[in-house]
Amino acid sequence: MKPDVILRIEGVSRIFPGVSGRQPVRALEQTDLTIGRNEFITILGPSGCGKSTLLRIVAGLDMPSTGRVVLDKKAITGPGPDRGMVFQSYTLFPWLNVAENIAFGLRERGIAKDQSNSIVSEYINKVGLRGFENHLPKQLSGGMQQRTAIARALANNPEILLLDEPFGALDNQTRGLMQELLLGIWESERKTVIFVTHDIEEAIFMATRVIVMTARPGKIKADIQIDLPYPRHYTVKTAPEFSTLKARLTEEIRAEAVLAAQA
Ligand code: ADP
Ligand code: MG
Repeated sequence: MKPDVILRIEGVSRIFPGVSGRQPVRALEQTDLTIGRNEFITILGPSGCGKSTLLRIVAGLDMPSTGRVVLDKKAITGPGPDRGMVFQSYTLFPWLNVAENIAFGLRERGIAKDQSNSIVSEYINKVGLRGFENHLPKQLSGGMQQRTAIARALANNPEILLLDEPFGALDNQTRGLMQELLLGIWESERKTVIFVTHDIEEAIFMATRVIVMTARPGKIKADIQIDLPYPRHYTVKTAPEFSTLKARLTEEIRAEAVLAAQA
């Protein structure tokens, strides 16, 4: 059975024009990728290979030099509430508390206060922030700030969740817990997720499919189905199948890093 396609990336490339006499930067080669509804896609690649560029194009924050992105049969022309975005660095509004941050998009969309309160409450529970509703971002740990950012993105009920190295600044322990939290939410809500990371273990642990990108100019080098069963518990990271996948992906990425170093 063919999965229901939600997103098509069709011949998307991105060249940044050279400023003040510099050479243009070919950030992304022509890229094609089809994503099915409910997939958890991780995009894995070395730093500078165009992962953020690709994600920003899907988010509608940047436009491709060629090609287009089609979400639910509509070509993307800009940002929209059908896509929820979570970045690595903390992007909460510092003057709003946790609940107000999560409610932000709902308020923008004119959702009634009662309904907004109940949605906020639901996501506060889902991300484990009960009791912290009135805290300001600066009063929260990094992990809690990212939980708030995830809740804020999910509260708008997006078709697709886009995350750009969201756990990159967290310590290992917190990072592992956040991976499990996000995976749990995905398992229960069955969202479509695109998650960018340069961490091989993280890429395998959550994904239904890992997309490996090459060093600059970035393009897709491998598209690997991850057949480990869900729900996934952190102990899967020590399973032999996991190690095999990790060895394979380490090899793919290493070859890229070597090429990049020679370039
Ligand atoms: P990644 O997220 O994989 O680390 P990026 O997508 O951020 O990579 O960047 C890919 C390449 O494009 C890098 O060489 C980067 O310097 C370049 N780049 C990204 N954004 C711009 C921009 N706005 N102007 C010029 N070059 C850019
Ligand atoms: Mg990036």
